[in-house]
Amino acid sequence: MSKFFYNVAIAVPLRQTFTYHSNQQIKPGTRVAVKFGSKQKLGIVIGTINETVIKTKSIDFVLDDEPIFSRTELKILNWAAEYYHHPIGDVLISFIPTTLRQTKKMLEPINNLQIAQAINNTFKKTLSAQQLKAVKFLSALEGFVPTLLYGVTGSGKTEVYIRCISEALLKNKSSLILAPEIALIPQLEERLKNQFGALVGIYHSKMTPSARYKSWQKFREGNIKIMIGTRSAVMLPAPRLGLIIIDEEHDASYKQNEGFKFSARDLAIKRAQILKIPIILGSATPSLRTLKLVEEKKFNIIKLTKRITDKNPPRFSILDINETKLLSGLAPQAIQAIGDTLKKQKQAMIFINRRGFAPQFICSYCEWRAACNSCDSSLVFHHQAERLICHRCDSAFGVPERCPSCGKEQLSFLGTGTEQLENTLSELFPAIPLFRMDRDSTKKTGSLDEMLSKIKNAQTGILVGTQMLIKGHDFPNLELVIAIDVDQGVTSINSSAIEEMGQQLIQVAGRAGRLDGNSSVLVQSRYTNDQNLLQLKSGDYLKFANALMKQRKEIGQPPYTFEAIIKAASPTTQANIDMLNHVKHFIDSTKCKVIGPMPAMQAKVRGSYNHHLIIQASKRTLLNQILLDFSNSVTGDKNKLLKKVKWSIDVDPIDL
Ligand code: ADP
Ligand code: ZN
Ligand code: ZN
Repeated sequence: MSKFFYNVAIAVPLRQTFTYHSNQQIKPGTRVAVKFGSKQKLGIVIGTINETVIKTKSIDFVLDDEPIFSRTELKILNWAAEYYHHPIGDVLISFIPTTLRQTKKMLEPINNLQIAQAINNTFKKTLSAQQLKAVKFLSALEGFVPTLLYGVTGSGKTEVYIRCISEALLKNKSSLILAPEIALIPQLEERLKNQFGALVGIYHSKMTPSARYKSWQKFREGNIKIMIGTRSAVMLPAPRLGLIIIDEEHDASYKQNEGFKFSARDLAIKRAQILKIPIILGSATPSLRTLKLVEEKKFNIIKLTKRITDKNPPRFSILDINETKLLSGLAPQAIQAIGDTLKKQKQAMIFINRRGFAPQFICSYCEWRAACNSCDSSLVFHHQAERLICHRCDSAFGVPERCPSCGKEQLSFLGTGTEQLENTLSELFPAIPLFRMDRDSTKKTGSLDEMLSKIKNAQTGILVGTQMLIKGHDFPNLELVIAIDVDQGVTSINSSAIEEMGQQLIQVAGRAGRLDGNSSVLVQSRYTNDQNLLQLKSGDYLKFANALMKQRKEIGQPPYTFEAIIKAASPTTQANIDMLNHVKHFIDSTKCKVIGPMPAMQAKVRGSYNHHLIIQASKRTLLNQILLDFSNSVTGDKNKLLKKVKWSIDVDPIDL
């Protein structure tokens, strides 16, 4: 009997594949059960081998009748493993539904699948001139043509997507639409279902495993033709994928920072490139990375510069708070403006990125400050829960009555969080409806949607919220937006923090004034001469972004340099530093800039210290080669230092 040899990727954290044999012919992309050590493990055949001199074990079972990944899909995933320097087995496993992550045969195909209803071809809206131009351009694209759809908030990007998806359908092609967060899926789903009915499906991590499996199956079989999902959906198999759309392409949530550290946005671009299909990246605040590719003419750009309602965009003003006494973070002018807005029966919104009552709890007699035992962070005082909570590890502690250090009863809080603003504002403006939107107030499933619809239907009111409030929602009666803690972003040494601050301000402004165009944005700051803030004042994101790009170019920061970090985590600082200093020699520092070892921004989390080395190279290929040499050297290195720490590579890091 003839023996076939296979290259098998196994779900173990090793950067290699393994050879097994079988007397069956197995196609690449098929799941198999194999012995690994003493255990049976799930493997995925990724290729065949002619012969081998090493002694091989036999594959125990073949689990799929048909491969679950096509050859092209395997090629893309292989690229991902190489690009991100992550074990291939782990990469493959992250893109299959949990139901298939076991050494079990695939479930029976879903029989009696309804063939989805016919396409409803009449569109509900007449396109604006700009939308029309965009659709004409986009639907004529063939082959790999990445295009940035820059559309100011309220310019009708979704309507453009709908037309492009419809064009793809006419060619019998499927479309994949990615959203950065689960919370943004329902509104996209509603609008697409409204047009395409049962051809639309969704895929994200809060669905039950069986619902996810079903979605996966249907897309793979072509019964779902339009799939909306979060980053885990980026590699969903589809037989005739013709279009990929990345909505809110700038959003940091596309990057996974744990385990397999990949960007779904970048993986989607690679997928489109290998499949030779168009990809649309939509945003009102595109990332500098994308804008650089536009600048280099590698990406097209299509602009929607006008709001559908043709109303004026919000006016920005910056309020100097250096000499101002604040009440729960609010300047008197801000309070005045809220009052005026409420008098007009309109809504005002305060944007603050801190939940809880106050970010610090201190003793005013001695130096004591409540801090987490296992992280290097202050405990946040939560008034409603009557707890001091660590926002990194979620540990909660009782609120002491006396200072644990000096015993005095002089404990107080410092700074402002959403809870405190809610309290203060309800005292200042009694009888006005107040909505607080943060992770604590929207824990119950459905509570966020409920609150959103209440806000949309209410006349006057005050909204207090974190970044949760600024993503993608329309508030027709909102006329005033106040941003009260932008200074952390303004002064940050982390360049992506400035980019994010700008994006948040423009996005939060975009929630206002959709109806009558009289809206304004008030930004409180102690740095009113800051160049980046002054650029934002124009309300023109591209102006801000271009100025920032120029700065980055001058000092050689991303996106004008290519970056990766070597991360180290362990229970001691010293082990991290020793290990990183040791492996630093594996990096050819004549070819790139190496910075560190240095503590990570989150230097300690859950008892584990985090340090890293930053590597910056002038070319992508160079960075890739450096990392490859690095990981080969480290894999072959037997130094004890490597055993003491958990290390990983993060390519194109966001969290430094
Ligand atoms: P964006 O995603 O660019 O912020 P949306 O796609 O959400 O904008 O569109 C903003 C609003 O305008 C939505 O309520 C949408 O239904 C409406 N809209 C979009 N295009 C048109 C159009 N051509 N005619 C009328 N209303 C439109
Ligand atoms: Zn004290
Ligand atoms: Zn903690």
